Amino acid sequence: MDFTRLRLSGFKSFVDPTELVIEKGLTGVVGPNGCGKSNLLEALRWVMGENSAKSMRGSGMDDVIFAGTDSRPARNLAEVTLSLDNADRTAPSAFNDELQMEISRRIERESGSAYRLNGKDVRAKDVQLLFADASTGAHSPSLVSQGRIGTLINAKPKQRRAVLEEAAGISGLHSRRKEAESKLRSAENNLERLGDVEIQLQ
Ligand code: ATP
Repeated sequence: MDFTRLRLSGFKSFVDPTELVIEKGLTGVVGPNGCGKSNLLEALRWVMGENSAKSMRGSGMDDVIFAGTDSRPARNLAEVTLSLDNADRTAPSAFNDELQMEISRRIERESGSAYRLNGKDVRAKDVQLLFADASTGAHSPSLVSQGRIGTLINAKPKQRRAVLEEAAGISGLHSRRKEAESKLRSAENNLERLGDVEIQLQ
């Protein structure tokens, strides 16, 4: 599964629609300080389901929307679309029928964000699990942002383990386990209530 294209519109400093073609092999992004290199990497993490505004260098998720400059008004909407090529059929099994995939995330000021996969509405969790299973998620160790190496060196063993789990593509299992445990708890509650009703009816 290869990343082939990243399209941004209204995202941080990329106010106009911008397309980054990701060719096979190594892609380098060069430019002067403040031209938006880190913003591109953040767009990639964001479309893969990043939900921490702090790790996007903002105080709230709306901060990813173009905030305006002296010459241009702020936007109310930001959208990032990531295209994936799955010709080698290495996408997680649930998506293996798809040869090409397009995942987009869109945020409207004060309304939160919504995701689409090949044009269909999906949950944030579906997108996060897709990338977690492919070990390329928003917290993937393949995305090395500024300060990450220092953080890793000073990290506690538990945090380091999370990085290894992300690299091994098993972090999605934790979130599935949490979901299953919460479903189990609610089923147990229902059973208990059913027991009470049964007793009352006897
Ligand atoms: P450096 O080489 O110094 O690390 P960089 O190329 O990685 O810089 P970024 O940090 O990606 O640059 O971009 C910073 C620019 O993005 C700043 O000019 C900042 O004002 C702008 N920016 C960030 N968020 C927004 C936003 N919501 N709206 C408009 N501009 C934004």
